[in-house]
Amino acid sequence: MDLMFRSTRNAENRVTASQAVLKGLAEDGGLYVPEQLPKLDVPVEALAGMNYHETAYAVMKQFLTDYTEEELKYCISSAYDEKFDTEEIVPLKKADGTYYLELFHGATIAFKDMALSILPYLMTTAAKKNQEKNEIVILTATSGDTGKAALAGFADVPGTRIIVFYPKNGVSAVQEKQMVTQKGANTCVIGIRGNFDDAQSGVKKLFGDAELGKELDRSGFCFSSANSINIGRLVPQIVYYVYAYGRLLKSGELKAGEVMNVVVPTGNFGNILAAFYAKNMGLPIGRLICASNENRVLFDFFETGVYDRNREFILTSSPSMDILISSNLERLIFRIAGDNAVENAKLMKQLSESGSYSISEEMRERMKDFIGGYATQEETAEEIGRVYKETGYVLDTHTAVASCVYRKYRDRSGDGTAAVVASTASPYKFARSVMEAIDSKYCGMDDFALIDELSRISGTSVPRAIEEIRNAPVLHDKVIEKDQMEAAVKEFLGIK
Ligand SMILES: *Cc1c(COP(=O)(O)O)cnc(C)c1O
Repeated sequence: MDLMFRSTRNAENRVTASQAVLKGLAEDGGLYVPEQLPKLDVPVEALAGMNYHETAYAVMKQFLTDYTEEELKYCISSAYDEKFDTEEIVPLKKADGTYYLELFHGATIAFKDMALSILPYLMTTAAKKNQEKNEIVILTATSGDTGKAALAGFADVPGTRIIVFYPKNGVSAVQEKQMVTQKGANTCVIGIRGNFDDAQSGVKKLFGDAELGKELDRSGFCFSSANSINIGRLVPQIVYYVYAYGRLLKSGELKAGEVMNVVVPTGNFGNILAAFYAKNMGLPIGRLICASNENRVLFDFFETGVYDRNREFILTSSPSMDILISSNLERLIFRIAGDNAVENAKLMKQLSESGSYSISEEMRERMKDFIGGYATQEETAEEIGRVYKETGYVLDTHTAVASCVYRKYRDRSGDGTAAVVASTASPYKFARSVMEAIDSKYCGMDDFALIDELSRISGTSVPRAIEEIRNAPVLHDKVIEKDQMEAAVKEFLGIK
């Protein structure tokens, strides 16, 4: 029997996995979640002998049960190929007594590639399975990395178009250049005068607009999402935690059944939620350490049980985590409310109306595996400098937030469990902040000069993704107000 998915806001809204992938967000504004979290059906000892493709199939088939074996294997092998600059796909590097899970070896050198390399295949397969007649329009809000990874994944994919909204002054120079130089006639990139939350709320509003949905349908289009609200992004992210465990077994760092801790630099709560799902599948994970930057809304939530977005939005050196409304937290809330859509919908309504909600003691008890922590920008820069000086390994700003939070946790708790830090971006993507953290003599140097210098001091070669944009022409230069998003979408699609 197929595993069904239902909305976190309405238990009656049930769909298959491929329908959930196709829709992205449920019509009621909720997110699709599996009715039961499936278990791994391979013994943990076996993970040591499995490569990335095999691990991906073992995990994904448990969730995406209405895809055939042939379809899933086709999606996996098409996604995780030479677009990655290493055959391992996700290397696990040991430095400073910690394991850094390098999730940035894909086409756009951030961890978003892990899911967005496969999402276009999952989605076009889902469109065929469900006889979708309309052209799919991927609508995406980005804090910098999702945008490029989704563009790279969907560019020139027949039957799809992609529109990306990014905060004009809220992304790094490399992130912006990567997006605005995107080729492909089906791509559209637009800056908005606002922050990531404005972009994300605007996109969610377009999804929820029934009138607009009808207009699109009449013109032969339907919306879907490449944001981590799409279950098709979450499921591929579970894979690398399972894979990391297999690597630790293989190298003898862990014995089968021993737990590992996981540390994740968090923004929209997608990556760490995937780790939580991995744990629920039976993977031996101890603590889930949720690292925030100065936008520490999640840290406060784990400390107090109160989620409160009413605070200043701070632009930091880890822009992909500059978020005050963490969308995927809704999936955890639903879960700890006892899979209760009514209770979850009530809390989400409070969030949209007053900007905050508070959960019960019982719910707090159910999320006690999560530990919140945060690092300031000064601490993050110090962490990059320290790890480089002591080990020669260069962390990007996001990974450094996690690394710093982990070190503080370990010192405080004395917990010596092996820890895997999700290393979410290549330092090349945030070369300015990284180099300035290593030595103040780099302040004021040109972006590409910094990149060459980073290559020299780290002994790594400049990734293809950076070489590509060095001299690439800008193809997208549109900047709009945050209330003009609907008009911009219609213009791109040619709808009057
Ligand atoms: C998106 C992103 C994050 C945050 O991940 P979430 O799944 O949104 O919590 C962290 N680091 C980098 C580099 C990212 O691109």
